[in-house]
Amino acid sequence: MSSHQRMDSKIDSTLIERIQLLESQLEEIRLQTNVLLDIARALNASLDPKVIAANIISAIASLISIDQASVCLFNENTQEFEVIGVFDSRTISPKIPSNLDFSFLAEVLSKGVTYYCSPGNRTQDWEWICCLPLQNAQHKTGTINIHAIRQPEITPEQMQFLETVAGHATSALENALLYAIVERESITDGLTGVYNHRYFQKRLHEYISLCQRHKRSVTFGLLMVDVDNFKQFNDCYGHLFGDTVLKTIVLELRNNLREEDLIARYGGEEFVVLIPEATEKIVLFISEKIREVVENTKVYHQTSAYVSVTVSIGATLWRPSDTPSSVILRADHALYEAKTTGRNQSIYR
Ligand code: GH3
Ligand code: MG
Ligand code: MG
Repeated sequence: MSSHQRMDSKIDSTLIERIQLLESQLEEIRLQTNVLLDIARALNASLDPKVIAANIISAIASLISIDQASVCLFNENTQEFEVIGVFDSRTISPKIPSNLDFSFLAEVLSKGVTYYCSPGNRTQDWEWICCLPLQNAQHKTGTINIHAIRQPEITPEQMQFLETVAGHATSALENALLYAIVERESITDGLTGVYNHRYFQKRLHEYISLCQRHKRSVTFGLLMVDVDNFKQFNDCYGHLFGDTVLKTIVLELRNNLREEDLIARYGGEEFVVLIPEATEKIVLFISEKIREVVENTKVYHQTSAYVSVTVSIGATLWRPSDTPSSVILRADHALYEAKTTGRNQSIYR
């Protein structure tokens, strides 16, 4: 073989090696792209932040050896974190880690840069931790926190993967949070924050189905609460003050009812309260308590200091022969009676 031929075959084998390397790199990139596409699809398949958090963690744990992870949501209004997903390789039912340092997470989120503390930089040189901010141009959404013990150190490619996952996670969580806002707005009253009429009707039908299934053993109470002479507040002190009165009454209703009682704005200055699993005695007690609490509430107005307000209440219990409209009608009649016989009283029918 001539020296020329020897040189040509060396070039050939170098080229083949190079092509093989490029091919394997290409295959790796193709695989990673597919994995990321799968992750993006999985993350966007749900509108439940907790499901999204679980998907984020399982995507990370399937490609990188980790021991613990958590996903936190950040509330920009309250500046508080909420842990919405946890992973611990030692157990299938992990608890929220007690050692999560929220002020540190806030720092990472405000800097907006991934924090990685490699084994060499830690006193325990077998551990690494990584904290990825979840953010976009508009919002700081949360963080992904990862802890690995006696695992291989994270590679630059893995870090790039984590940051891409964090990007997808941010959009998925943002979508879910926006959806939750729209969903909540569609069922609540904008002024007072209690449920709106449409949502009340939906729940009333559900409660009636539930009671019908249980025959006579379960029932619920209904209160129609109407502000007395409300028009006068608007006329004397202005519409804005009227709004304050409505908000004050809702505050009192909330403070004096249980979590499971449903409060809705039935119309203008009229509210409805659905009291699950009630008896006549309970309904009478609650309705009188509300009337009394409102009577003792004073609403502040800048010109005439404190203004008194009262409500009239029509109360009833659901009966097996009732339809949604007949139970409402009975409460309405009781309310009418309370209005026409003096106001500031509750009547049970
Ligand atoms: P009654 O004791 O018989 O219930 O008398 P009332 O004045 O409370 O009842 P009326 O139905 O005559 O007046 C209700 C008023 O409530 C009329 C309406 O302009 C006012 N209103 C309805 N919705 C709102 C609201 O969101 N804000 C304010 N400020 N006023 C409202
Ligand atoms: Mg009224
Ligand atoms: Mg009214």
